[in-house]
Amino acid sequence: MKVLITGGAGFLGSHLCEFLLSRNHEIVCMDNFITGSRDNIATFLTNPNFKLIEHDVTKFIEIDEQEPLDWVLHFASPASPIDYLRYPIQTLKVGSLGTHNALGLAFAKDAKFLLASTSEVYGDPSCNPQPEEYWGNVNPIGPRGVYDEAKRFAEAITMAYHRYHNLNTRIVRIFNTYGVRMRANDGRAVPNFIIQALKEESLTIYGDGSQTRSFCYVDDLVRGIWKLMNTEIHEPVNIGNPQELTILEIAKLILKITQDRQPTADNRQPITYHPLPLNDPKVRRPDISLAQEKLGWEPKVKLEDGLKKTIQYFKSRIGC
Ligand code: NAD
Ligand code: UDP
Repeated sequence: MKVLITGGAGFLGSHLCEFLLSRNHEIVCMDNFITGSRDNIATFLTNPNFKLIEHDVTKFIEIDEQEPLDWVLHFASPASPIDYLRYPIQTLKVGSLGTHNALGLAFAKDAKFLLASTSEVYGDPSCNPQPEEYWGNVNPIGPRGVYDEAKRFAEAITMAYHRYHNLNTRIVRIFNTYGVRMRANDGRAVPNFIIQALKEESLTIYGDGSQTRSFCYVDDLVRGIWKLMNTEIHEPVNIGNPQELTILEIAKLILKITQDRQPTADNRQPITYHPLPLNDPKVRRPDISLAQEKLGWEPKVKLEDGLKKTIQYFKSRIGC
């Protein structure tokens, strides 16, 4: 197959490139590097099945008329809260105009289309765990609204292309995913805590740390996406790991794995508390019954094992 991946130089996009290349598919990676990195795709550049096109997908996407495509996987978008707060307009544009362009390309090429959506469409949820039927609790004008509403629009236009143009679409609602090739400074909890622990700095907990998240290792996510590509489910499907922990528990687990840290001699604490960002969801946990039933998928990688691999990766990046 020939697969175009928007956002292919990002954390998740680069894992999809790697997974599909290892199965001998051809990849066209399209990225403008706003949050992605050339390092993420460096090892693929010599592969004859890999092509990089540097392009902003909010602008019309032109692919040679003669070049067929089997799939468009639309992963382009800033994804971490500090990224989408730094690039609010670009985030809204890539979720709206970028999704429209990517759908238009899939339609023109008679290709299938998969949208990387997010658990953020559920906002600060009033039910836990979150099943796909839940419509969410999003503040459209809050700081996270630029991401949440862009993704909600992206889902709506994807379903419209499916219903009105008969486009063969998929929507994956991705819950917090972590692993090798995350950016050390992307501001998300897992890279922040690991880097802080490795540098023997305090781990920065926002709020009192009682808010919950459920972290999925990237290999499990990619396997779930592949299974979804190989079904005919057009409605959204949650992919995530239902093991729910408080953020304080995650921080303590990372401290334990890195070195069982004690307060340091100059009285720095292993954990310090900081203000909770506005509209930060209080709970998050995927209901994965649909993925279990229809895809035969569930996560396999244990949190401790995934964290160990990720810690090893960051150790090699920062040289400690
Ligand atoms: P990332 O920032 O590492 O990757 C996003 C990629 O998209 C980057 O390479 C960036 O340069 C590229 N990009 C952004 N805007 C672009 C544009 N206008 N044109 C071309 N390229 C553009 O983030 P990620 O964690 O890999 O997330 C990838 C996708 O998965 C995003 O759509 C995100 O919303 C979704 N997602 C991720 C998670 C997660 O936990 N990582 C959770 C839910 C949803
Ligand atoms: N968080 C934290 N300290 C950090 C980074 C994040 O306490 O240094 C919290 C954040 O407020 C949120 C949770 O960890 O409650 C997960 O944040 P992340 O940015 O990883 O993902 P989110 O689920 O918020 O998109």
